Amino acid sequence: MRRIEEVAGNNTSDLTEMNRSAIVRILQQKEVCTRAEIAKLMGLTQASITKLVGYLIEMGVVSEVGIVKGNGNRRSIGIRLNAEKNLVIGVKFSRHVFAIGVFDISGKLYTQKETEFGLDENTGIVLAQMKKQIRDLLDEYKNIVAIGLALPGPYLRKEGRIAMVTRMPSWHNINFIEEFENEFDKPVFIEQDANAGALAEWWFGDHGRPLSSLTYFLVGEGVGSGVVDNDRLLLGYQGIASEVGHISIDYNGPVCECGNRGCLELYSSTTAFLKEAKLKLPELFRDKYENRTMACERVFDAARSGNTKAKALVEKIAEYIGYGCVTLINAYDPEIIVIGDSISKADELILPTIKRIVEERTIPEVSSRVRIKISKLSIDPTLYGAAAIATDRVLRKPSEYLFTN
Ligand SMILES: [Zn+2]
Repeated sequence: MRRIEEVAGNNTSDLTEMNRSAIVRILQQKEVCTRAEIAKLMGLTQASITKLVGYLIEMGVVSEVGIVKGNGNRRSIGIRLNAEKNLVIGVKFSRHVFAIGVFDISGKLYTQKETEFGLDENTGIVLAQMKKQIRDLLDEYKNIVAIGLALPGPYLRKEGRIAMVTRMPSWHNINFIEEFENEFDKPVFIEQDANAGALAEWWFGDHGRPLSSLTYFLVGEGVGSGVVDNDRLLLGYQGIASEVGHISIDYNGPVCECGNRGCLELYSSTTAFLKEAKLKLPELFRDKYENRTMACERVFDAARSGNTKAKALVEKIAEYIGYGCVTLINAYDPEIIVIGDSISKADELILPTIKRIVEERTIPEVSSRVRIKISKLSIDPTLYGAAAIATDRVLRKPSEYLFTN
C-alpha cells in the first residue's frame, strides 16, 4: 500500500537509512572525516557511528583512508566517500539548447556536450536526440546511478509540464515525467532550473559549512529563485514556490505572460537588459554575437572600460536585482543569497549596488548578517544543477541508489 507522505511514520529501518544518509552527506562536503568528528556533527554516540560506517564500508560507499589527525591531536582513521564510484548524468533543457554532462557525486565533471535546437523544431525529434545521447553515456559510463533533468521554470512538478505557454508553445504539452520515467533503467529526477541552481550551490558551491539555508537567485533570460531551507529544497504545493521573477514590483506595470503586471522578470532579466542595451548602445551590436550571455558580456566590458551609457544600464539592472534580493530576504530569511546565471559575469560591477539596496531596504539585523555573493561555479549552473538534482536524491537514500560492491 502506498504511504501517504503527510502522515507517513518512520520505521527503525527508515531512521537507520536517514543516519546513513546524514553520514554520506557530511562526507560529500568534507573530503575526509574521522568517526569521532561524524559522531560530534550528528550528535550520536561513537558506537552508533561505528556501526553505521561499518555498514557503509561493507557496501563500498565509503572507505577508510589511513591515519589522520583527529580531535585533540589524537590520531584516528579517516573515512572518505567513494564519490568516483557513483556517477550521475545531468541534463539541462532550455529554450535554445540542451546540455548533457557526466559528473560524480562530489561534483567532478567527466564530460559535457551542448546541442542547439530551434523553438520551431519538432519536439519529438529533439527529445529523441536527447534520449540517444543519454543512452550512449549510460553505455560508456558503467557507474551511473541516476539522471537529473533541469527544466525552465515555472515547472508543474506533479504534472510534469512546463507552465509558461507562450514562451515555449510547442513544449507546453510535453509531459516530461511520462517521457522519462520508464525510458532508462536508472531513475530520472526532474526539477526547474532555479531549484537546480540552488542545489548546485548547496552541494558543489564553496560557501562554508555548516550552512542552514541558501537561496539561489537566477538572473538570466528568465528570473527565478530556488530555496534550500534546513537542508531541504522548498517546493510548495505544485512546485512553483519561490518564483520570484513573477512577484510584481509595479502593479500598474506592463502585463506579463503569467497574468500579473510589472513582474520583476520584466525589468531584471538579461532579456530586458539586452533590449534596452540595443537601443542605447547600437554600436555594440553591429557584429553578430554568439549567444545572449556573450551579448551581455559586451555591455559589461563596455561598462568596465568607462562607457557611461553601459555603466548606467548595469547600475539599473543591479538596482532591480537588489529589489529582488530584498524580497527574497523578507520571504525566506536566507543565510546566503547566491546570484547566478548570465548576470554573474557582471560580478563586481553589480555587487556593491545590490548590497547598498539591501542595506537601505531591510532591517539592520538582517542586512548585516545575510551573505550576498555572485556565483563562482565554473560549470553552467543549470547543467551542474541537473547533476546536483540527481546527487541530492541519491545521497538521501544511499542504500537504494548508491553502487554497492
Ligand atoms: Zn509574470
